[in-house]
Amino acid sequence: MKFRISRAEPISWPDKCVWCSGKPTMRYEDSVKGLFGGGLGFLQYAKIKIDYPACRKHGLWLSILRTVYPFSLAGVVLGLMIHYIVSLFFCAVFLWNLLLRPIIIRKVTKYFYTLIIRNGDYGREFALLNSLDPL
Ligand SMILES: [Zn+2]
Repeated sequence: MKFRISRAEPISWPDKCVWCSGKPTMRYEDSVKGLFGGGLGFLQYAKIKIDYPACRKHGLWLSILRTVYPFSLAGVVLGLMIHYIVSLFFCAVFLWNLLLRPIIIRKVTKYFYTLIIRNGDYGREFALLNSLDPL
């Protein structure tokens, strides 16, 4: 589910793991940096920071993937020299990050950003909690 979120308004997260709706034991911090057009053709820089609840298992997964992700492309190349299994692992990490994140932030502008929640049930609760309509 997609939401257009005002950068000025704080958002609330349902008290469940964003991934599996299980009992949350931690909050996972995520941030996205973006450039957007300012006036007169200048680009402005923005950083959106969110932290959402995750259960122990998925919090751990998210942390591992975040740590490994910056090395994923180098890992694929390195893996070709070591063993193809290594390459496959890093390939999976790269694709995961691209396609399967539970929460994705897109289209950061001066006042708004787009938040995508992959878990539909979670998205509906999120909508109710924040009085938002999905896009
Ligand atoms: Zn979970």
